[in-house]
Amino acid sequence: MKGDLYVISAPSGTGKTTLLHMLLKEMDKVSFSVSHTTRPSRPGEIDGVDYHFVSKDVFSSMVEEGAFLEWAEVHGHFYGTSREGVLGQLAKGTDVLLDIDVQGARQVKKGFPGAVMIFILPPSFKELEQRLRSRGTEDEDSLKIRIENAKREIMAVTEYDYIVINDVLQKALDDLEAVIKANRHKKDRMLAQPEVSRVLKEAQAR
Ligand code: ADP
Ligand code: 5GP
Repeated sequence: MKGDLYVISAPSGTGKTTLLHMLLKEMDKVSFSVSHTTRPSRPGEIDGVDYHFVSKDVFSSMVEEGAFLEWAEVHGHFYGTSREGVLGQLAKGTDVLLDIDVQGARQVKKGFPGAVMIFILPPSFKELEQRLRSRGTEDEDSLKIRIENAKREIMAVTEYDYIVINDVLQKALDDLEAVIKANRHKKDRMLAQPEVSRVLKEAQAR
């Protein structure tokens, strides 16, 4: 059985990374695709865990080799999803979460029309700015760019299948899990489960 691909987008500072870390601890058979980026690492970020931090030259060569499933320039840096990592996990039956921006999301949807698209919204712009400031990772210029881009990103929300609001963290986590669980119970996926085919065979034999 093949896994499903989940595309998760949100304006920077919404709490997407926080939510995805929590989700990965809670749910089985789900993995996170670690992107490549030319952005410098933030204090506490680990190479190979949060991102593969690479130079612009390495990133460009990977683009030329076709190593990325999708890639985009976001907030002045390059980010890309490794094709090999994602396809390998899906083939093993593991669901894969992509934390990518709206430009990347559009590219994935073209190649994988069955991808489940989830957008996470902040409760307000004021709260978004507060979260970005309290994270303390951006200088004033970077903060401005991220808030400016948030407007454009939020306008793309209608291109997604599900919307989760990250106001109270635990509630947002529950909502995100609910989306994934509901998707896992879709008929096509359940029909591939041995328990389901066994009961169907029993029914046919009666
Ligand atoms: P993103 O990955 O979307 O850029 P982060 O996960 O880094 O965002 O979160 C941005 C900041 O907001 C962090 O300091 C995080 O601890 C905080 N945060 C995340 N979710 C919530 C929430 N529901 N309520 C308050 N603060 C939050
Ligand atoms: P950050 O620098 O805050 O970690 O991420 C900035 C933005 O880049 C976020 O919107 C995040 O979803 C996006 N991003 C992270 N990895 C990728 C990727 O591989 N591809 C694309 N298109 N966007 C990504």
